[in-house]
Amino acid sequence: MIYFFCIMLAAALGSFANVLIYRLPLMILSDAPISLAQPASHCPHCKAPIKWRYNLPLLGFIALKGRCAACHANIPRRYFLVELGAVLLAVLCLVQWGVSCQAAAYFIFLLGLWALSWIDAAHYLLPDVLTQGLLWLGLLYNALAAPNSLSDMVFAAALGYGLLYAVYFVYLKITGKVGLGFGDMKLLAAIGAWLGANAMLNVLLLACLSALLFGVVGVLLRRAVLQKIWPFGPFLALAAAIVLFTGADFTVLWSRL
Ligand SMILES: [Zn+2]
Repeated sequence: MIYFFCIMLAAALGSFANVLIYRLPLMILSDAPISLAQPASHCPHCKAPIKWRYNLPLLGFIALKGRCAACHANIPRRYFLVELGAVLLAVLCLVQWGVSCQAAAYFIFLLGLWALSWIDAAHYLLPDVLTQGLLWLGLLYNALAAPNSLSDMVFAAALGYGLLYAVYFVYLKITGKVGLGFGDMKLLAAIGAWLGANAMLNVLLLACLSALLFGVVGVLLRRAVLQKIWPFGPFLALAAAIVLFTGADFTVLWSRL
């Protein structure tokens, strides 16, 4: 019963992530009169309001077979995938930590990363409200749950930001181009605040390697979708999730050298 409740809550929070993914970029990038609450959820195609029963996470999309009830326009599959991802993340957290504050805290962290990945992939944007929010939540959580590690987390946040700033600065001096956004720096700082310095360095390494691999595979397969310039945020987010769940530690490799 408690697990069922957790999963329902995760689906509802996944639904909220959809709101953030759709509305935050509009609020930041356009002059449209839109906030997180207003106007009420509606079909982007015909503007018909969505009945509450079709607004239920996952089930609403299935009931409608992915089409608007009023105009039958396709509803982007993103809505379903984001909610499904939220539920999968909740299941992983429950398996790893059981029903606990730790599971809830890391679920919020992962859900934030999940929403940021979708926004960055579509708009090359990592909204401050999410990256900075995660940074403070990470420090707050560790201050409560593991106060002895707090100095490590603060150091990790500063180091994460500083490392990417150094990369940005050097790249700009050499090529005259902006290679990294400030959002990436804030995101890595947030990851450091949650996971600590050692894990943060592993996340950075894993993100660089996976981005490189992604590009090479794209060239080999000649797939345009893989070859476009992808933002770095989703790679950082994926790497953070992998390091969090597996505890993967590559520093062991170079300590053996
Ligand atoms: Zn419609």
